[in-house]
Amino acid sequence: MTDCIFCKIVSGGIPASLVYQDDRVIAIDDIDPKAPVHILIIPREHIASANELDDNNKDIVSHIFMVAAKLAKTKGIAQRGYRVINNCGVEGGQSVAHIHFHLMGGRSMTWPPG
Ligand code: AMP
Ligand code: ZN
Repeated sequence: MTDCIFCKIVSGGIPASLVYQDDRVIAIDDIDPKAPVHILIIPREHIASANELDDNNKDIVSHIFMVAAKLAKTKGIAQRGYRVINNCGVEGGQSVAHIHFHLMGGRSMTWPPG
């Protein structure tokens, strides 16, 4: 999608701090980190939000969780614990309309989120 910032990062049109990539996803450091580890895991395919998941694209979610767990180990936060978060829609706090999951850790999290 031409005016999507994450599609532009996926295609290399906008630079980002790449921490992982494979044939289905990229992972980048969040530009405005809210935790010592704050990585965004982004599918290469443009899916606007969790509302657009269906039988054809749903497997990306399990892949993303597997990548999150792998990165948590790489970053040394797996044993301490971490969060994998998806914000969906306006009230969910989604600001970029290309589905992505936040891997956050390195500090104690509070519950419930704000
Ligand atoms: P959300 O609010 O769940 O849609 O999350 C969007 C996230 O993308 C925010 O945490 C932003 O800080 C992050 N973000 C926006 N633009 C960029 C960028 N160019 N590079 C890295 N992270 C970004
Ligand atoms: Zn996109």
